[in-house]
Amino acid sequence: MNCYIGIDLGGTNLRAAIADTETGQIFHQKKCPTLAAEGQQAVIGRIIQLIRELRQESQVPNHAVKGIGIGVPGTPDIDKGIIQFLPNLPGKWPNVPLATIIEGQVQLPVALINDVRAITLGEWTFGAGRGADTVACLAIGTGIGGGVIVNGQFHLGIGGTAGEFGHHVVEVDGLPCGCGGKGCLELYASGPAIAAMGVKEVMHGHTTRIGELVNHDLNRIDAGVVVQAAKEGDPIAIAILQRAGTYLGIAVGNILGVISPQRVIFGGGVSVAGEVLLAPIVQTIKGRVHVIPLDKVAFVLAELGINGGLIGAALWAKHKCERL
Ligand SMILES: [Zn+2]
Repeated sequence: MNCYIGIDLGGTNLRAAIADTETGQIFHQKKCPTLAAEGQQAVIGRIIQLIRELRQESQVPNHAVKGIGIGVPGTPDIDKGIIQFLPNLPGKWPNVPLATIIEGQVQLPVALINDVRAITLGEWTFGAGRGADTVACLAIGTGIGGGVIVNGQFHLGIGGTAGEFGHHVVEVDGLPCGCGGKGCLELYASGPAIAAMGVKEVMHGHTTRIGELVNHDLNRIDAGVVVQAAKEGDPIAIAILQRAGTYLGIAVGNILGVISPQRVIFGGGVSVAGEVLLAPIVQTIKGRVHVIPLDKVAFVLAELGINGGLIGAALWAKHKCERL
């Protein structure tokens, strides 16, 4: 049995699972709140605690667990296991040698990877990307992340930075982005962007299910509320998702022109919207992309949900361990 621990370091929750990297089966998983506001040392302590509890509680014998992969919401140095950029978590994360710190406490090799690159690897191996040679994966949530498989290879680019689709420019003179650029996709189509469009509609006094669903409490409007309203047929909510879908379609159209994938996978919290979001994306692509044979490209939803990132992080740990 080839088992690895996959961890997802999320802004809200820390999740960990022991996975069989041959079959994709998850044997045991646990989660706890990240409580990121307490700073990086407290969070690292919780990761170590979670690993220890997982190993104690699981039926998988300790010697069968070969290593640990951690998906982080930013850009780690994947060769050295050092955090470089973690924009959405409070604390002093840059330059933290996370892999070495955890290795010292749990006596297992630790590998870091961007969280959506982990989802891409998980979905390609065991989920919606199975069997495809070239795949693009986007996760739409608090931000927009991505990853690519090219010609049967997990393509990482310099230091693992390939697949930053959230920072594709979709408005030439657009809003300033946290990355230092402007007009980036995630400012127009991420969960917070969709929520902000919903808040604006309610603030302007428009009659919409978005307001009704939260009793006109603006603080409770998130992307899930807009999606719910759209599914109930609310025209304003549908128009918001159409707008976000148009921007996503523009970005995906650009990706098609670079890697010409057979499959494009949409994951992340916002993708549970399903058809109400997918339809405007595909419509935009069909209207704009004429140099790629679109009849050979499938636009699909992720299949593994939260497990995709956990299995992907475990697969990444295996990949790194076997190359040592
Ligand atoms: Zn950006």
